[in-house]
Amino acid sequence: MKKKSRKRKEKIRAKKAALNVPQHDDKHELKISAIEEGTVIDHIPTDAIFKVAEILSLDRHTGVVSIATNLQSKRIGKKGIIKVGGKSLTQEEVNKIAVVAPDATVNLIKNFNVKEKIKVKAPDVVDNVIKCSNPVCITNNEQINTKFYVVKKDPLKVKCHYCERIMSKEDIEIV
Ligand SMILES: [Zn+2]
Repeated sequence: MKKKSRKRKEKIRAKKAALNVPQHDDKHELKISAIEEGTVIDHIPTDAIFKVAEILSLDRHTGVVSIATNLQSKRIGKKGIIKVGGKSLTQEEVNKIAVVAPDATVNLIKNFNVKEKIKVKAPDVVDNVIKCSNPVCITNNEQINTKFYVVKKDPLKVKCHYCERIMSKEDIEIV
C-alpha cells in the first residue's frame, strides 16, 4: 500500500516537471536562425542554390552557414535562401551570383539588422566567372581569364570574347 502511494507521488511530480519545460513553437524552430553578422542571400532560384554555395566556397567556410530551399516566394515561385555568418561578399562574388541567380538580393547583416541590401545585376561584361564550353577556346588551353559579353540578360545569354561562342543559361558553368 505504502509503495503504491509513493509511485503516485512520483507520477505527479513528473507531470509538474513536464509543465515547467518551456513550450517550443514548432513553426519557430523550423525557421533558420538569424545571424548577427554576415550575409544573407535571398530569392535564389532553387536550381541555383548549390551553385551559389559553390561560388562562395561554403564547403570550406568555418562560420555558421544555413541553406534553405523550396521556400515559397511571391516573386519567383519557389526560392532558396543562404545565410553566411561572418562573411561579406566581394564584388566578384556578387557578379558570379548574378549570373546564376539574377533575382537574388544580397543583404549585409550587422547586429542582426540589414545594414545594406544589394540587388544583384548581371554585368555587361563577365570577367573570370564563366567557363567557356568550347574545348578549343584559348581560355581552356592557356592561362587566360575568361571574358564574356552579356548579349541578353533574361534569360541569360553570353558570348565569349575569344572564340565568340554563344552560351545560354543551361550551358553556363562557373570557373
Ligand atoms: Zn571561348
